[in-house]
Amino acid sequence: MLTAEAVKARARELGFDLCGVAAAEAFPELAYLREWLDAGYAGDMAYLARSADRRADVRRVVPGARSVVVTGTLYNVDRPYSTDIQDPATALVARYAWGDDYHDVLGSRMQALLDWMREQSPEPFEARAYVDTGPVQERVFAQYAGLGWIGKNTCLINPDLGSWLFLAEIICTLDLEPDTQGLEQCGSCTACLDACPTGALVEAGALDATRCLSYLTIELRGSMPEPLRAAIGSHVYGCDICQEVCPYNQPAPRSSDPAWQPRPGLDLPRMVDLWQTPDRGLRSLVKGSAMTRAKLPGLRRNLAVAMGNAGLGETLASTDQNTDGHDVPRPSLDDPLVRDHVEWARQRGRGV
Ligand code: SF4
Ligand code: SF4
Repeated sequence: MLTAEAVKARARELGFDLCGVAAAEAFPELAYLREWLDAGYAGDMAYLARSADRRADVRRVVPGARSVVVTGTLYNVDRPYSTDIQDPATALVARYAWGDDYHDVLGSRMQALLDWMREQSPEPFEARAYVDTGPVQERVFAQYAGLGWIGKNTCLINPDLGSWLFLAEIICTLDLEPDTQGLEQCGSCTACLDACPTGALVEAGALDATRCLSYLTIELRGSMPEPLRAAIGSHVYGCDICQEVCPYNQPAPRSSDPAWQPRPGLDLPRMVDLWQTPDRGLRSLVKGSAMTRAKLPGLRRNLAVAMGNAGLGETLASTDQNTDGHDVPRPSLDDPLVRDHVEWARQRGRGV
């Protein structure tokens, strides 16, 4: 018989920092999604509403599911937090996106774990492995699998490792011994709610995504709401503030896994350098990272807003030559979305 202990031991061998098992049940916390959607907090993320029924019960994803094996992988690396960077001309990119795309890296590792489970199990079983993209409320299952608790910042927090964790799961019809759920340990702390620059954490554990910098710089495809542009600050892809201020990340352990180390062009990049990079260069810079989720015009839009906030609006003038007079082909600057945000940034620079 394949036991939960054997699966967890194999997960450790494969490089996962955490692994636990939750029962495949409709836990009460799963029902909150519907309330959250009804409040309009999902913004343009229509796919969440479309898959809400499946997200409410993993047995609609894998019929007959009995267990959810959840893994956690630490991705924190030895670099300063964004809140410690004083130079407003440094482009801030969320920590999880600095290295290789976690979907690819962890997808292979999860598949290796599932393949091993199939080899070891005397009985055939149904299973699906997901890394973030499945119709699964993975943080709820991570909590019930004993990996930690869902903090007031809505992240899964492990008392020893903090919250810089990639979660992934295998939903399966095997009957594995579940772990004891993680205990809530935020207590009276409200550091994340107090630090959020837009008030997106409307109350403990409730995120209005339409105000969150992660949503605005990644998920939102169109124009960035003007009242929120100043709060974007220097963020060009995602936001880590509500995790950086969390006492459970002071300090957080670091991963030496080469996959999560920042690629050179994303290691505290200067906004001007990114802006002057040709489209082809920007594409190859983010290729193979999680940053491909924001398309090129979206990245240019974010950069324009961040440069406007940094007082660099005037350097955004649409030209295909850099300061050395070399050609820099950037057809994405002709995108009306980009042009609109460049104009906003330039006017901000002039105090209009
Ligand atoms: S990611 Fe940033 S904007 Fe979003 S809730 Fe956290 S602190 Fe607020
Ligand atoms: S900052 Fe405080 S309240 Fe927020 S998640 Fe961390 S411990 Fe919980």
